[in-house]
Amino acid sequence: MRLSRFFLPILKENPKEAEIVSHRLMLRAGMIRQQAAGIYSFLPLGKRVLDKVCAIIREEQDRSGAIELLMPTIQSADLWRESGRYEAYGKEMLRIADRHERELLFGPTNEEMVTDIFRSSVRSYKDLPLNLYHIQWKFRDEVRPRFGVMRSREFLMKDAYSFDLDFEAAQIAYHRMFVAYLRTFARCGLQAIPMRADTGPIGGNLSHEFIILASTGESEVFCHRDFLGLTVPGEDVDFADAGALAAIVRDWTTPYAATDEMHDTAAWDALSADDRLAARGIEVGHIFYFGTKYSEPMNAVVTGPDGKDVPVHMGSYGIGPSRLLAAIIEASHDEAGIVWPKSVAPFDVGLINMKPGDADCDAACETLYAELGRAGLDVLYDDQDTRAGAKFATMDLIGLPVQVIVGPRGAKAGEAEIKLRATGERETIPLAAVAARVA
Ligand code: ATP
Ligand code: MG
Ligand code: MG
Ligand code: MG
Repeated sequence: MRLSRFFLPILKENPKEAEIVSHRLMLRAGMIRQQAAGIYSFLPLGKRVLDKVCAIIREEQDRSGAIELLMPTIQSADLWRESGRYEAYGKEMLRIADRHERELLFGPTNEEMVTDIFRSSVRSYKDLPLNLYHIQWKFRDEVRPRFGVMRSREFLMKDAYSFDLDFEAAQIAYHRMFVAYLRTFARCGLQAIPMRADTGPIGGNLSHEFIILASTGESEVFCHRDFLGLTVPGEDVDFADAGALAAIVRDWTTPYAATDEMHDTAAWDALSADDRLAARGIEVGHIFYFGTKYSEPMNAVVTGPDGKDVPVHMGSYGIGPSRLLAAIIEASHDEAGIVWPKSVAPFDVGLINMKPGDADCDAACETLYAELGRAGLDVLYDDQDTRAGAKFATMDLIGLPVQVIVGPRGAKAGEAEIKLRATGERETIPLAAVAARVA
């Protein structure tokens, strides 16, 4: 992509409305634009990161055996009356009437709808386990939308729903998602800590929030320092091996970790001061087993091995990809701007032509642009006739992992400078070596 043809509305000044660094940087880097309170457009740079994050989520959901579908954003109120949640959900739900005065709503979540899909066609325990997920926009009329896409009203959610014959099988489904989540967040360059969360009337211990530690987080969290050293399961993890999954979950739930709602001061006080990590955190994911809460009232039953009909045991598993963008920036930035982890960067490389119009610079950059593209890299080529200082500032702000800088003197000598965004390390190498070096 040539910067001269791209749409990158950079802001020079710090936007006053942004209270936290991720919001500030997303606005400054031209990633998002607010259209109404808590409602955002994702501009091209933001859209590219969102797509990368969704691709990672999708790969890990698929790897764990979940199956993607796509449910609509608009749902019928009647479906929510069946579960009793239409009245119970309260003001966070956006209620809509169509021209026939039929009551509709913009989905804040999809338990009812997916249960309806399930009951319409699954009859036997032999069709289980089943886990269906989608990545779809949600709307929640948050009392205080703030911090940009961190707490917006319209936001993207990956929500998965598992269906199993009994508690034991549902627990395996829960473990699969738990492990998939560990891998997903790690691949996004984040250290997410699973923390015990409230299970409400269901009870048990099958609810975890995945939390990123960040000073700007909205929740107060307490965890054991050991989490910082735990290893995330590799891509060879066997999702068919229930024992192996349970062992991973055990390792990741043994050290103490809780949000303030679930905080157990006695257990906390028993830890040594060195082991205690009291911090603030951002909820990026939430997994939850809720048994027959929806299947019972909505009559989603399967015939068990004994020929009797039983309501299925369900769980739901959410990740907020749009919130994740902000969380990644909170975790990875410096004074100059965003520092994208490689896996989610909007482009792999920023190629800077220091002097467009200079024959050597232009030729060297065109060759590099083509070579880097052939090496499978996504390149943002700054071919614009602007000041060197502005070019560097923009590249640093948008945080691409690698910069390749070509100036007139270097181009003449057949050299380019490579700068790593994360460390600031610079190195001058022959033009012919750039593609191999960067790839
Ligand atoms: P919060 O406690 O932040 O209000 P929640 O517990 O209401 O979130 P869930 O119902 O668990 O959210 O939804 C699953 C995921 O969706 C969350 O873990 C989060 O990543 C994302 N999410 C929820 N609300 C928002 C929002 N207003 N803006 C952006 N992402 C959100
Ligand atoms: Mg909420
Ligand atoms: Mg929450
Ligand atoms: Mg939650």
